[in-house]
Amino acid sequence: MADAKINPNGKLKGRVALVTGASRGIGEAISTRLAMEGAKVICTARTADDGQSTLPGTLKHTAKRIRDAGGEANYLTCDLSKANEREQLVKDATGLYGPIDILINNGAVTFYSPIETFAEKRFKLMIEVQVWAALHLSQMVLPSMRERKQGAIVTISSGAAWHPKLPYENLRAGGTVYGMCKAALERFSTGLASEVYNDNISVNVIAPGLVATPGVAVHGLITEKTKHRVSPIENIAEAVHILVTGDPKKMTGRIDNAGPFLEELGVKPSPLVGVAAG
Ligand code: NAP
Repeated sequence: MADAKINPNGKLKGRVALVTGASRGIGEAISTRLAMEGAKVICTARTADDGQSTLPGTLKHTAKRIRDAGGEANYLTCDLSKANEREQLVKDATGLYGPIDILINNGAVTFYSPIETFAEKRFKLMIEVQVWAALHLSQMVLPSMRERKQGAIVTISSGAAWHPKLPYENLRAGGTVYGMCKAALERFSTGLASEVYNDNISVNVIAPGLVATPGVAVHGLITEKTKHRVSPIENIAEAVHILVTGDPKKMTGRIDNAGPFLEELGVKPSPLVGVAAG
């Protein structure tokens, strides 16, 4: 098990990572873990400062957490639902640190509602932020990755992508559209993995399991019934770190769940530097 410290000469030394949804929760943890391995991390989301969101966590905090520990991080705001802001993000990120080597599609907006009452506006927003933004960002970072014959894209999925099976017990009511988005992302990733295999670029999907984050608190997902399933946030951060440092010829096209993935590899997650927002 690694220590909670920044290793500027780690496996990701000099690599530029762009992490979406990095103002809190899982994106904050992934940003921190990649910086610990020497990556230069661009954290992005909408919330830069305290008071801009009702939820805890800001981009400023995430970048400061990393920098205070001796790592390299910066932040750029971007509303992932807006094409022009996504374009500006990639341009500005490249201007700050150089071409992007690692893209982590983690940001998400989620509404839970039964299909009969699901509002079109909410459906379109979820598809835009979760699915199309991931594809669009990939489109923008791929040309330089291909040119340099290196790169890694990881997209965060969920057990919600798996098809419900009889008996229909313990299902999160209203999670069909969320499951659709995550299933789309999984098929997108395996397809893209095959498209860019010859260019040494890995494309993977990982689901975190149930993790205590501000988003999960809003949706009340941790209950007496589910609390035994809660995974430490370090698991998903470690799993992403393994995926982006893996051999792109072997570690690509995977769809995994962080806990079992770490068990399969016999890896204990590293503690993370600094204090999470909260
Ligand atoms: P969270 O606490 O709700 O954080 C979501 C992140 O997405 C925030 O940084 C938020 O930042 C950003 N975001 C939302 N809408 C955005 C927009 N329009 N533009 C830009 N950024 C936006 O979520 P989390 O629990 O950490 O989840 C992270 C990922 O893991 C998601 O893909 C989620 O589906 C997946 N996941 C989580 C769990 C879990 O148990 N936590 C389980 C399965 C899958 P701003 O509000 O500042 O923009």
